[in-house]
Parts: sequence; structure tokens; C-alpha cells
Amino acid sequence: MRPDVLNYLFKNISSIPGIGTKSESLFNKLTGNKISHLLWHLPYNIIKREMHDKIDSTLINSIITIKVKIIKHQISRFKRQPYKVNCLCSNIPIDIVFFFARHPYVKTNLPIDEERLISGKLEYFRNKYQITHPTHILDVNNADVLNNVEPIYGLTSGITQKLFLKTIEKVLINLPDLDEWIDEDTIKKYSFNNWKKSVLSVHKPLSKNDLLFSNINRRRLAYDELLAHQLSIGLAKNYNQKKKGIKFVNNKNLTEKFINNLPFSLTESQNKAWGIIYDDLISSNQMVRLLQGDVGCGKTVIAVLGMLQAVESNYQSVLMAPTSILAQQHFENITKLLLNFNINIVILTGKDKGKSRNEKLNLIKNGYAQIIVGTHALIQEDVFYNSIGLVVIDEQHRFGVFQRMAFTNKGKKPSLLVMSATPIPRTLTLAIYGDMDETKITEKPIGRLPIITKALPINKEKNLLEHLKEKLNTKEKVYWICPLIEESEELDLKAATERFKTLNKIFNNKVLLIHGQLKESEKELVMKKFIENDYSILVATTVVEVGIDVKNATTLIIEHAERFGLAQLHQLRGRVGRSNIQSTCVLLYKENLGVNAKKRIKTMKESNDGFKIAEKDLLIRGPGELLGKKQSGLPTFLIADLTFDSDLLNEVRKIVDFIVLTDPKLMTKNGKKLKNLLYLFEKDRAIKTILAG
Ligand code: ADP
Ligand code: MG
Repeated sequence: MRPDVLNYLFKNISSIPGIGTKSESLFNKLTGNKISHLLWHLPYNIIKREMHDKIDSTLINSIITIKVKIIKHQISRFKRQPYKVNCLCSNIPIDIVFFFARHPYVKTNLPIDEERLISGKLEYFRNKYQITHPTHILDVNNADVLNNVEPIYGLTSGITQKLFLKTIEKVLINLPDLDEWIDEDTIKKYSFNNWKKSVLSVHKPLSKNDLLFSNINRRRLAYDELLAHQLSIGLAKNYNQKKKGIKFVNNKNLTEKFINNLPFSLTESQNKAWGIIYDDLISSNQMVRLLQGDVGCGKTVIAVLGMLQAVESNYQSVLMAPTSILAQQHFENITKLLLNFNINIVILTGKDKGKSRNEKLNLIKNGYAQIIVGTHALIQEDVFYNSIGLVVIDEQHRFGVFQRMAFTNKGKKPSLLVMSATPIPRTLTLAIYGDMDETKITEKPIGRLPIITKALPINKEKNLLEHLKEKLNTKEKVYWICPLIEESEELDLKAATERFKTLNKIFNNKVLLIHGQLKESEKELVMKKFIENDYSILVATTVVEVGIDVKNATTLIIEHAERFGLAQLHQLRGRVGRSNIQSTCVLLYKENLGVNAKKRIKTMKESNDGFKIAEKDLLIRGPGELLGKKQSGLPTFLIADLTFDSDLLNEVRKIVDFIVLTDPKLMTKNGKKLKNLLYLFEKDRAIKTILAG
């Protein structure tokens, strides 16, 4: 049971006054549905609302606070006409402008002949100063209500800065005091503040300095998060050691037949990986292995080999993917690969409901299903496996460690193979996955041509479009990626939509658009159309699914490449180069690149090696980087960033080793405080399954 002291933090966001069901679902999308989730959403910038006595042209486009005298109301006469309030700011005329104004509201708040404080962005329009939709209108003697510095948060469309701020402020007032779970030495060593003070501080930055990754209060919360994560891994491992693994038969009938039937021969790297995994599977120890390999290196075939070995040994195996599109793709792929094998393959995703779902659950339970492919749906509580022997997770870093644990806890102790396409520097794998063995596939199938990467300034776009026209006379396909900046999904979508429209005109309706606000089923439809029909270009925000395999997609254009992190660029680039046709990646950039952006683009042009690129990524990013730009592409923690917090991680690991050794069930006084921490970061499953066992 979660301790009462945490109750407030785990209330639904809708319990905050002023949040209705509509805003709740928006918040849910942005942060998660619990009050605690708001806390982990840190501001990425600040605005200073400086008081000014006068206005002049140097202030245009900045956020200011001024005193104005209200002269006249120019009421809007039809819906689209703005409502203007003519004012004077020390004798300089300025309009306060409202669109779709509620007249009584404007009238009472800006009464003629009186003075008010107005805060907002100063604009200059048709030879006159104006402020549109001021964020604050205050009585003149209320100046102190206005914070000089206001945090800015990443938002989603429908949630305004004002709403987020009001909401988080209400939450911050109600934060509980929590007993300290960090040991005294560590607190001293880093000069950490306590939890509550740290949370309050990160949400009330006073200057840009407070927004740096080095901010001690952010670091404290990062430490907490890493501690919770490592502790749950540590306790899980400790618990797991008591269970025995499953021993597969040492018999290569099926796998050899499979290898001989493949239309290609395995690369040396694949052969080696399979050899290691085979040995794992036939031993009596549980395999827990991470299979890393760049996109397109052929990890799926290795997974299928493992699953065949499970079939050979009369065990079921499961392949879990992060989205139903990917699950479907795996299902079709595997079905094709195993055409002549007479093996029962079943797919289970969130789309299976009612009768169809029940039928499938039955097939899984009675053992008819030998290979089961699916999504999260595979770990729901009512899914019972008959004899699960191998779990393969196509991870892409969206699954938590404890989702993996769920399989381990159902029935016996199956072997675990996690496939990952994000090359993670060796130093970090342990942190993220806990203690897993590692295998890397380091080469691409023979015949694959390295992708050619070019950089082009956006103002030379015309040349590119000409070139595309030629290209599209062939059957080849193009991805056009539009950037997603966290700050404004709405604007991003607008940009992508515009891009879609112009391209669609140029390319005679052969263009499709996919983005994050589409439903999963809608996305699937777009992908299907792109693959099967006569469409040439797919305009996408970064949602274009990792792992999607479109063989004749040979050109990838990334617009505003300077806004992407290296790992992200590399991941995106992996959408092409999936056949023997030469592929090209074009990085469109806006001129006047910053130093780091320049380095990133250079690295991309020079290297196709994901591991090298990942190392470079760590080098290029420095501790001076600002918050909010999570672009490392590494599995994301909420607050911690492994680029900047690896020292904390080392510290945490030592402490966790000690705790697991001395207090594995968290029974001591300090252990109880640590339980609070685990609950706070929602490691409930760790607590339930491990501490009970
Ligand atoms: P990833 O590692 O990204 O999951 P996949 O397993 O999807 O890669 O493989 C990418 C493509 O390469 C698939 O179409 C697969 O059939 C093919 N492939 C895998 N191994 C080889 C190989 N040794 N030779 C040629 N093609 C291969
Ligand atoms: Mg894959």
C-alpha cells in the first residue's frame, strides 16, 4: 500500500481546482494523469517581465510590463474584428487588442480614464504599438503580484502557459514534506537541498543559470530518480537469483532448416550473435541479454532463431513491440519467414477486443499459440501463458524494466532477449538495463550501400525539389521529416501541414502526411497507403515509427536538421538504406548554425556507424546545455540525463549495492523511507512482486 503521505501526489490532475475533464486529458497527454507527473515537467526557459516607464522601438517583440492610461474602447462589431482599447503609456499611444473578445470582460477590466498595469508582448502594427491578449491586467498598486521572472514550460496544444503556471502553482503550495531517503554523506557531498525545497526551486527559476543541467536542485531530483531506478533493478535482480532458468534442447533441426531456407546467408556478425544466444538458451541459466545493432542489421532473424529453438523445446515464445504498427509488421514478417514450418503464430494487441481477444487468450493459455507477437496487451493481468520459454522485446527504449519483469513473474523464468537499435555507449548500458549481457551486431548485410548524407541550406530547397522530381519517376519513395520542437506541438503540426500542402501541389497528390496527433489506427492507415499504394512522399513529424521497414524508401529529407540531436538524426536516417538501392539522406538546415549543430551535421556526413555517433553525441553535448532539450535519444528518464548525471549514477550504484546487501526487503527505518521513493517514481511493481517474494 502506498503510504498516506504520498496520497496528494497521486491524486488525479482533475482534482486540482480549475481543471475540467477536457484540460485533464490534455495534461494527461503532456505529463501524465497524476499530480506527481506535473512535478517532473520542468521549465525550459524563463521570461522576465521587466517594468518599463516608456515604450520605444527597441522593446518591440519583448515581454514588458507598463503602466497605461485607458482612453477609449473601439468595440468589435463583427466576430473577426479585433476589439481595441486605445491607451497611452506616458503619452505614447498604444492599443490593447483582443480577438473574439468577451465585451463585458474587457470593459470592466480596462475602465476609461483609469490606469492599469499591462504585461505582454509589445508589437508594432500599422504604425502603432500594441499588446495583443495581455497575460496580465492589474491594478496599479498590485505590481508586486507580478513575478518578475516567470518559468516557461513545454506545452501541448490546448494548454496555455497561463493555465500550466496556475496549475503547477496550486500544486506547489500543497507539496508534502517527505522524510529524507538520501544518506547524510551524499547530501553533504553534493550540498543537496531536501526533496520539497528542490522541487519548489526547479519550478521557480530566477535566472537562466537556474535552467542549466548543473542546477543543484535538478541534480537532487535526478539523483532521486536514478536511485529509484537502480534500486528497483537491484532488488529485482536479487529476487530473481532465487529462480532457475529454463533449459532448451540442444538440437538444431528447426534452426538449421530455417537458416538453409533463408534467401540470404547470415552475416558473420549475425552468426556470432546467434551462436552466443544458442549457448545461453541450452544452458540451465536464465538468459538476460541485450542484442544491440544498428537499424537494418538484421536483429529480427536472430529473434526468430531463438523462437524456433523454443518451439523445438516445446516452449512458447513472445515477441513484444512498442506499437501495434510494429507488432503487425513483425507478425507479417515472421509469418512469411516461417511459411513452411507449420508453427502457430498469434498476434495480440490493444485492437483485439471482446470475442476475438478471448479466443486468442484461449489459444495462448491452452498452448496452441507457439509464437505470440504483440504489444503491451501481452502483459495484461488476464493473459496466461501455457509454457513461456523465451521473451523477446523489441525495445526501442519505450518499455521499462518492470514491464519486462512481468513476464519473468508469470509462470517459470523465461529467457529474455531485448533488441535495441539505439547504440548506447558501453558505460551506460548497465545503468539503463541493469545487469544484462550484451551482444552487438556490428555489420550490415552484404550489398548494402552506405547511405550518402548531404547537408543543404534551406534556401537552396528548389534544387532539391527538382532533383526529387527526377527521382520519383522511379518507384523509389521519400520521407520528409519536419522537426518537432517540444515548445509548441501546434506550430509544428502547422509547419508540417503547410509542407504537406506545398509538396502535394508540386507532386500531383502523391504525398501523405503522418503526425503524432493522429490515432494509432489512422497512422497505420497512412503507413499502409504509403507502402502499398502509389504515393511517393511521406511528410512526417518525428513520429515516423522507429523500425518501420519500407524497402524502396531511398531518400530521407530532414528539415531543420540543426534542431535534432545526433542520435535522433541517426535513428531517422535508418528509415532508408534498407535494400541494395543507393539511399540518400539530406539534412536541410537553416543558415548561421551554432557550433554544436555544425559538429552534429559534420558527424552525420562523416559516419554511418551508430556506435561511433553515440560516443560523439556524448562528447559534443556539454554540461552548459540548457534544460528541456532532451535530444540524446537515449532512453529517457524523467529528470535525469545520463549525459550529465553519470557521476550521480556511479554514486547511486554504490549505495544500491549496499542496500541490496544489508536491507533487501527495505525493512529498516531507512528502508521504509526508500520505499516512499520507490512509490514516488512508481516502481510499485518492484515493491509488490519483489518485496513480497
Ligand atoms: P533490424 O535490425 O533493424 O530489426 P531487420 O531484422 O528488420 O533489421 O532486418 C532488415 C532487413 O534486412 C530485413 O528485410 C531482413 O530480412 C534483411 N536481412 C536480415 N539479415 C540479412 C542478411 N544477412 N542478408 C541480407 N538481408 C538480411
Ligand atoms: Mg527491427
